[in-house]
Amino acid sequence: MTPPVAILGAGPSGLTLARLLDRANIDFVVFERDESPTAAISTAGDKGVGGTLDLHAESGQLALQEAGLLDQFKAIARYDATVAIADSKGKVWISVGDDGEDSDKPEIDRKDLRTLLLSSVPEEKVRWGFKVQNVQKETDGSMSIHFADGRVESGFQLVVGADGAWSKARRLVTTAKPQYYGIHYLSALIQPENPFHTAAASLAGKGLYMALGDEKQILVVKLGTGSYQVSVGLRLPENWTSENAALLKDSSALRQTLLRDSFTDWPQSLMDVIRHSEGDFRTWPLYSMPAESLSWQTVPGVALVGDAAHLTVPLVGEGVNCALHDSLQLAQQIIKHGLDDLQGAVSEYEALMFPRAIDLIERSKESGEFYFAPDAPRGWLKTYAGMEMD
Ligand SMILES: Cc1cc2nc3c(=O)[nH]c(=O)nc-3n(C[C@H](O)[C@H](O)[C@H](O)COP(=O)(O)OP(=O)(O)OC[C@H]3O[C@@H](n4cnc5c(N)ncnc54)[C@H](O)[C@@H]3O)c2cc1C
Repeated sequence: MTPPVAILGAGPSGLTLARLLDRANIDFVVFERDESPTAAISTAGDKGVGGTLDLHAESGQLALQEAGLLDQFKAIARYDATVAIADSKGKVWISVGDDGEDSDKPEIDRKDLRTLLLSSVPEEKVRWGFKVQNVQKETDGSMSIHFADGRVESGFQLVVGADGAWSKARRLVTTAKPQYYGIHYLSALIQPENPFHTAAASLAGKGLYMALGDEKQILVVKLGTGSYQVSVGLRLPENWTSENAALLKDSSALRQTLLRDSFTDWPQSLMDVIRHSEGDFRTWPLYSMPAESLSWQTVPGVALVGDAAHLTVPLVGEGVNCALHDSLQLAQQIIKHGLDDLQGAVSEYEALMFPRAIDLIERSKESGEFYFAPDAPRGWLKTYAGMEMD
């Protein structure tokens, strides 16, 4: 029997939806391109370079609560994360969380969130090694999914695109495409055995240290593994990663290039963060869907959740929260309307999702303008903390 619902992608949004449907006894199948759960975790985690996510009470945590996973999340989440925001001279302007009070936005490593969600869904319902190439509506109104290796699965009533930034289901609802935001992040690690680990700890402590200025950013973030994730944010051309493949393979040349071309005027303590980070850098060119695209007419047989619906730049730290909230609201509407009125369910879900998504995209882009301004963090401090730098 073909299940009524197919979910594309075993990321945070896809697995949350899977868990919520499973609890409501609604049958589904998840198709994930990664070859296995371990491959998925190592890809998403990249030994930890996937980073850490903070889950908010009114969205991400709410979804986990409805999924019956909040206690398990709380048992592994980190409530003691600090935040420090500095300028390009290394002067710290804001320091939050040093008072020992619990954060209301607890952190979890991306790979641990995935493990938690995966362990809550029947194993046989997640099918690994299924890379979606295309989603099609058949003449009888049913949906079929075509995979990169030529396999086809058909007969679904609803296909949910939870397949992230480059969703293969998106074209069924909109012609809009992700637009490059002009910024790349390059991320590497400082692991506990690294002699520079103590210096990284003195910057970021149990949480995050962010230095901003000259349209650049250096980020140091503590992970659950004890490692620090080091990221630099730079204005780079869209194809920088593909045009610099050789440089990216020679990590010591890349470090020298970054220090010489981008951070030469920055203090030694911050240059050392880049100098002493380990291994290859992972690159993240940042893309965003145009906010205007979040207005399509419901297309029977298709729904989008998470980044597939509203990819944006990760500069307010809410992408995964919005994604989990989507899955919660879609599951609630499917349960409310039943399988006989999936179109009604998707339509009501979209009416709830669009304004949240538009708000997230607009706030993320605005925050990015402040982060990457020549005089950052001046505008950010003024707007979000009411502080003057002079
Ligand atoms: C550098 C960076 C830092 C970020 N930091 C934060 C943060 O601090 N806080 C926050 O809230 N958000 C953050 N985000 C955003 C957050 O990661 C996303 O919003 C969130 O992961 C979206 O979840 P998702 O399930 O919709 O998509 P994804 O996490 O992208 O998951 C999609 C899944 O679909 C699979 N897939 C993709 N294509 C196919 C295909 N063709 N066939 C089958 N499977 C496929 C993928 O393998 C993956 O498992 C950050 C993003 C980036 C890039």
